Amino acid sequence: MVFDGNRPMSDATKPVVVVGGGAAGINAALSCRAYFPEKPVTIVDTEAQIGYYRPLLPQFVVKKINEDKLFFWQPNQDPLLTLKLNQNAASLDREKRLLHLEGGETLAYDRLILAPGGRPFIPPVCYSQSCRLGVFPIRNLTEARAIRRWLPENRNVAILGGGLVGVKTAVQLTLSGFPCVLVEKEAHLLPNLISSRLARPIADHLRNLGVDIRIDSTVEEIRVGELGELKEVRIFGKWVLCDTLLVAIGSTPELGFLADSGLLEDNELVVGPTLQTSDKNVFAAGDAITIKTEDGAKHTPWTWPQAVSQGKLAGANLYRSAPAALNRLSRVNAQNVAGLPLVVLGGESARSCAYSESVHHPQWWREWCQHQDRITGGALVGNISDAGPLHAKIATGEIVPDDIVKPGTRAFPRDTWRHLGQRRQVRLFHVKETGP
Ligand SMILES: Cc1cc2nc3c(=O)[nH]c(=O)nc-3n(C[C@H](O)[C@H](O)[C@H](O)COP(=O)(O)OP(=O)(O)OC[C@H]3O[C@@H](n4cnc5c(N)ncnc54)[C@H](O)[C@@H]3O)c2cc1C
Repeated sequence: MVFDGNRPMSDATKPVVVVGGGAAGINAALSCRAYFPEKPVTIVDTEAQIGYYRPLLPQFVVKKINEDKLFFWQPNQDPLLTLKLNQNAASLDREKRLLHLEGGETLAYDRLILAPGGRPFIPPVCYSQSCRLGVFPIRNLTEARAIRRWLPENRNVAILGGGLVGVKTAVQLTLSGFPCVLVEKEAHLLPNLISSRLARPIADHLRNLGVDIRIDSTVEEIRVGELGELKEVRIFGKWVLCDTLLVAIGSTPELGFLADSGLLEDNELVVGPTLQTSDKNVFAAGDAITIKTEDGAKHTPWTWPQAVSQGKLAGANLYRSAPAALNRLSRVNAQNVAGLPLVVLGGESARSCAYSESVHHPQWWREWCQHQDRITGGALVGNISDAGPLHAKIATGEIVPDDIVKPGTRAFPRDTWRHLGQRRQVRLFHVKETGP
């Protein structure tokens, strides 16, 4: 046993155990192996294969990419890195530092990293009428393989959920020639990320591609065939031919196995900016966590880049006497929606904040959110050249987003100036609205 500075006792004979082999879990494991090469690491995951890019699943299901392009990591010959796949963490005994697996095995740990990600919501209507075939969440490789096999014979697709995953999937399906209905219960697409003003050009763009968008709607009922296969869905009172229903209405942190661990605060796995839980031996990262800062504010930047950087930091912090804090808590979500660029930044959206403003131009749309005198979030559609400065302002809490409000040099392509003659005229193109 060793005692290092103000860190808890460490038992060199026990491994570091990581729950979850997604972006956060694998990066945590690799970072631990790099920083503390003498420490053995064990990754436990429910899935049979880990180390793939979840954001690429929509391209994979339509066969735009093959499976070999999905993986960012393959198990190598590191003798101190053990994988326990097809294994579910079932419960945690923190006092004895034991992780119990569903199959009956128990793993002793020296330090634990929790990175179990999220579990998709599936509304009850999807499984009513004894539907056994044709309904899939878009979440993991196992489901994605099943969708990829199912789609060629079942081409009429409805996607439930007009968030980022639903929009990305609708684009891929439509570009691959599948008739596709995108169903969103709120009044516009991407409701948790952007305002209706910014969602409008995205919806127009998708409609031009051929996506059938139904907003203010949901799947109210389904009809199945004799074998329990999906046949039709009822959307806003109308039956629509549908043999594949893809569910993308969001996810909730996968925390069931921690119910009796004493680590949850109001059902949330809360960590500080150093990614330590209330137990100094247990760290956590990725889509499963809520980060609470000193001012009491909670942050849930559930994105791929955050999962990667949090995983790396959690692994590096495990045995540090002074664990480092995450340097950015805000989300960066950059997408190319079939040629239309979109970037969403920060922790707040036009929907969640008290005050937002937007500006637009025939080819681009921008908005930002304010909390008291700080800029807390924003989004750019069409021309995303000011994403960097806007993100920096969000990170430093600056107030005046001049670069995105006034036509700055970065806001327009160079020949816009020549075309419009002079700077003053460009300002006339701005219609400034106050929201939400
Ligand atoms: C289709 C799709 C597209 C996306 N596109 C984007 C995008 O374009 N940009 C972006 O920023 N983000 C995107 N995301 C979100 C992004 O993928 C997530 O933010 C990121 O994967 C979170 O990583 P994570 O490691 O925290 O969790 P996950 O990647 O969910 O990994 C968690 C792992 O833990 C395992 N696990 C869970 N519970 C247990 C248990 N009890 N025992 C053992 N193992 C367990 C799971 O099997 C899983 O492998 C997308 C997500 C999806 C589904």
